[in-house]
Amino acid sequence: MQVPFRGLAAALTGLAFSLPLLAAPIAPAAQPGGTDAYLDASAPQWEAVSRKIWDFAETALKESKSAALLEEILEKEGFAVTRGIAGMPTAFVATAGSGAPVVGILAEYDALPGLSQKAGEAKKSPVAAGAPGHGCGHNLLGTAAVAAAVAANRERIAQKLPGTIRVYGTPAEEQILGKTFLLRDGAFAGTDVVLSWHPESENYLYSGRRLAITVIDVEFFGKTAHAAANPWLGRSALDAVEVFEHSMALMREHVLPTARLHRVIKDGGVAANIIPDYARVQWFVRDENGARVNEMIGRLKKAAEGAGLATETTARVTLLASTREPLYNAALSQVLQRQLERVGAPKWDAADEALATAIQKEVGIPEKGLAKDVQPWGPGHGVSASSDIGEVSAAYPLAELAVATGPVGAPWHHWDVASCAANPVGLRGMLVASKVLAASINDLLRDPAAIAAAKAELLKTTDGKPYVSPLAKDAVPKVY
Ligand SMILES: [Zn+2]
Repeated sequence: MQVPFRGLAAALTGLAFSLPLLAAPIAPAAQPGGTDAYLDASAPQWEAVSRKIWDFAETALKESKSAALLEEILEKEGFAVTRGIAGMPTAFVATAGSGAPVVGILAEYDALPGLSQKAGEAKKSPVAAGAPGHGCGHNLLGTAAVAAAVAANRERIAQKLPGTIRVYGTPAEEQILGKTFLLRDGAFAGTDVVLSWHPESENYLYSGRRLAITVIDVEFFGKTAHAAANPWLGRSALDAVEVFEHSMALMREHVLPTARLHRVIKDGGVAANIIPDYARVQWFVRDENGARVNEMIGRLKKAAEGAGLATETTARVTLLASTREPLYNAALSQVLQRQLERVGAPKWDAADEALATAIQKEVGIPEKGLAKDVQPWGPGHGVSASSDIGEVSAAYPLAELAVATGPVGAPWHHWDVASCAANPVGLRGMLVASKVLAASINDLLRDPAAIAAAKAELLKTTDGKPYVSPLAKDAVPKVY
């Protein structure tokens, strides 16, 4: 079924879609009524920004148009923008104000491969088959983060609030790369607290359940030969992969039930009559915390060495990306919880509910429609998907807000998310997120005690140990 694009359609009729025009100062001057009033008044323009990023649908480390659009808006709004940081052309930091406290907010804007989908459709229907799409809603994520920072900054100026607002443009979240590299290269230095949000199917503050993950390439180097004429001269790298895979399959019996191990063979040779002298398999190793993941990575390395020994090949194990589980900061989360309860869940109309239940029917899950409540603060809120915010949370106090932008129980990294992310369902959630985040930034600028409590809690959680990056000093961000 098709749901007309109400708010956005209205916005587009009055707006040319050229980058410079979109990046003109967004909205009227600061209005009485604070950040909510500003965000209500400017909602059509933010909807257009989010739609533009949805249309760009740029995957990890290729988000050049999406990053440029957000950078230009922030610059026009008086933020000092530094582009291309930590070796990533699509990473940026934008700063407004000065002095303490320094409140950071994370923006993501990468799409996923293969998830192209028409907006507002309740069945799989790509705009272009095989093309990328916003199946994790990061067009909403990045836009709401920037909208919140702009709204909070206008209020900071109007109310003469102390402190600094920083927007971090963090690319390649889907590859667990952006934030880990930004941290390793010191981009967050001097930040007191960090806020984030993610599109979801419920309204709450995350309090757990995201998994730690390490992404590993295991390569084997053997000797090639004609597979029929003189195979005794060869040593097959693919054989090594098979021995390694068997070891890992046996290991699965002896890991905790919380572990999640998955892999794909990236290179297994080119032709059956040529002994492969090179093979590569990639593993994602996940569990509830980073310590358990590290323990399994130690065993994986032994399996790789053993496979090399058994097949007279050489193994090389390379860490490509890694994040620990998020340490959600309760003191900081409660600042956002108060604002979430004040703003309330998105207000849905009949067309929103119709789209949601049609998607639920199509996917084969209970037809519960859309979430109408804000869940009280408490344990166990979250999803098992990993995010590189885990690394940020180990270095700085971090809270992550979830706002409903899709049907209850609907799968993520899926066409249904891309469908809702350029539809009023997603846009209503985006507006709620931006209001909660903007008001929370200003609460924090006004309240040094809340900042101090968040920092004290992190010190306690980490036993005062300094943050150590999982990345090698010479590691470079690249898509794997
Ligand atoms: Zn995501």
